[in-house]
Amino acid sequence: MIRRIPGVRGAQAYLHQSREGLAVIDPGYTGSFRAVLRYVEAQALGRIDWVILTHHHIDHAGTALALCQATGARLAVHAADAAYLQPRRPRERMTLWGLADRLPSGLARFVVTCAGRAARLLEDGETIAGLTVVHGPGHTPGSIGLHSESESALFLGDILNNERGIRTPPWNVNHSHRLAMRAPHRLAALTYERAYFGHGPAIMTGADQCVRAFLTRRTIAPALTG
Ligand SMILES: [Zn+2]
Ligand SMILES: [Zn+2]
Repeated sequence: MIRRIPGVRGAQAYLHQSREGLAVIDPGYTGSFRAVLRYVEAQALGRIDWVILTHHHIDHAGTALALCQATGARLAVHAADAAYLQPRRPRERMTLWGLADRLPSGLARFVVTCAGRAARLLEDGETIAGLTVVHGPGHTPGSIGLHSESESALFLGDILNNERGIRTPPWNVNHSHRLAMRAPHRLAALTYERAYFGHGPAIMTGADQCVRAFLTRRTIAPALTG
């Protein structure tokens, strides 16, 4: 079962339920945990086992700690992004969220509310709550996609968005734009019917072919211009 959680601010938040447990993927901006709690209660879905972050950006991760504290769920994030959830975070260059990094750490604690939480550190290829981790660094060092075999679905976080068609994020929000351009090629070998983005509408049929077509188009275009 996959549901988009209504009322969450920032990026889109999703529920994924499998035999391995109930996971919230990217619960959203600071304060959005209330919308998640309301929805999970209204739908009588039971206990949340995991809060999984596709990456550390505040529009995906800001409310993660509050949600974990309210529910007892555990937090999971790729190992390469874990440091960004700590009070003394590495300083990001050239990202919109870099602003939060320049705040004194005492103040940043309130902005990024997952600071200080001990998380399960994910690595490429491992599974959590029925989802396989696909590491696609670039947008952030620890950006991941999450592949659900049972639902034939892929959660892309910000590896690709679908706001005006399928795209990689713009250079000014990427930790390494060069790597961010390469990251979606990691997804080409996967099979999935549906794609769920951090930003933009989901693709409900033939999503893997849509993503492959995007990658082919983009690979050909730069080659023509040398
Ligand atoms: Zn985002
Ligand atoms: Zn992001």
